[in-house]
Amino acid sequence: MAAIKPYLFAVEPTPSEPSAETGFALNGLDRLSQRREDANFLQAMTEAPSTRTLVFSGDIPVLKRCGTVHEATFTLAEAAHLGIAREAAFLGVDAAGEALFALLLESVLPEKQQERDDIAMIDLRTIALQGLVAPFMLGRLGEAKSLLYWHSRHRFCANCGTKTQVSVSGWRRHCPACEASHFPRTDPVVIMLVQDGAHCLLGRQAAFPPRMVSCLAGFMESGETIEDAVRREVFEEVGIGVGKVTYFASQPWPFPASLMIGCLAEARSRDLVLDHEELEDARWYSRAEVRQMLEAPLPEGPICPPKLSIANLLLRRWASESLTF
Ligand SMILES: [Zn+2]
Repeated sequence: MAAIKPYLFAVEPTPSEPSAETGFALNGLDRLSQRREDANFLQAMTEAPSTRTLVFSGDIPVLKRCGTVHEATFTLAEAAHLGIAREAAFLGVDAAGEALFALLLESVLPEKQQERDDIAMIDLRTIALQGLVAPFMLGRLGEAKSLLYWHSRHRFCANCGTKTQVSVSGWRRHCPACEASHFPRTDPVVIMLVQDGAHCLLGRQAAFPPRMVSCLAGFMESGETIEDAVRREVFEEVGIGVGKVTYFASQPWPFPASLMIGCLAEARSRDLVLDHEELEDARWYSRAEVRQMLEAPLPEGPICPPKLSIANLLLRRWASESLTF
């Protein structure tokens, strides 16, 4: 029998594809999915001094304060001091072969923990926007957050109601009563820049920060292609038909567990009929207006989503005329 290779694939340098330019996309872990049920391997990883873990208190990452910077990983001994783990998962190994786990604490750390000088609890959106951890670590925190979120809300079998058990190093839950296997879910969302020649369509949801406008977006539904989901969402939200749809890039979006699928969509008409349940406002923007928003937003004018988002990348590429069908 052939020996199992230590790595499923060599961890490659950052690829040049556009998805790699979005926040949460870089990760750099070899997930070693073929070793997730190898008890000897996992034991060795648990005992290796270089092994680290990410820690979550509810949906909030726990960070270690190291002087003026934050460190996202803890040794397993340090993590044990923070509390009992309710769930744990093996995320993989980094380019140096060092293992990384993720664990969810049994009890949410109390508020006063936030004032401790050794740890900080900061929500992942703030970590991302403020660049508190390196891009690769941001991707790993996103992976852990989505996976642990799923565990925390799938503790009982959806088929028979029995309490389920974690299996396959945190990548499955098993029901001991009906033998059903439950897999972590990712929810696909289409996000599309609708264009009509020299103009693109941007909308504003009531929940957005003040003045922010963005590409239209919506969850895919069962039985839809990506292209059909784009056409349906655009028609529902602004009442226009869409012709050609081209995939551009994707972005893991751990709020809580989505995959944003970024597309360019061709408008077949210009007159908008807004669904005010979905959108507060929407209109066509010229390339000059989009460049203004990206480079030097006017004091009272519209602003773009933050640079880590795939919407920002779609707009940057469109404004520079490098986003084409
Ligand atoms: Zn069951």
